Amino acid sequence: MTDSPKIKLATAWMDGCSGCHMSFLDIDERIITLAGLVDVVYSPLIDIKEFPEHVDVTIVEGAVSTDEDIVRIKRIRKATKLLIALGDCAVTGNVTSMRNPFGIDGIMDRAYDENATIQKQRPSAHLPVLLDRVCPLHEIVKVDVHVPGCPPPADAIWAVVTELLAGRTPDVAALTRFGR
Ligand code: SF4
Repeated sequence: MTDSPKIKLATAWMDGCSGCHMSFLDIDERIITLAGLVDVVYSPLIDIKEFPEHVDVTIVEGAVSTDEDIVRIKRIRKATKLLIALGDCAVTGNVTSMRNPFGIDGIMDRAYDENATIQKQRPSAHLPVLLDRVCPLHEIVKVDVHVPGCPPPADAIWAVVTELLAGRTPDVAALTRFGR
């Protein structure tokens, strides 16, 4: 008799502060239990450069703010059965979308001209192109589960992930809330 294959889990970091990944790591010793249930096939926490094919669950932190982000999230969606938007940036845009009312010229002028004391110039080479507005994941791809919070508490992340891995639908609203 052979063991059933482990679930393939990925995590991805779009435009966010990494606080949601830090909260994920705050599950502490439960990560050993998780390691018994899943194979982590892609994540900023491990050294794999290319997003693989046939991923069962991907947890995505952060919003979409560049042309590169759009390519990445579409690639992730195509290869993933179940996509979780983790945290307020992924769910609503949150902090990352605070630039939206000012426009790209407004924030560039503020950062690289008004607030610069020397070498006033915008970065131009080898950088992703900023979108006119930052948007949450669901505006670009289908999201299966939204987990709000800034960041969502580790206990909530643990409950959501383990419920999903068990084939059940987590009651996310009972676990976490926006801005928490
Ligand atoms: Fe950081 Fe909060 Fe955004 Fe998570 S939701 S990436 S903790 S700002």
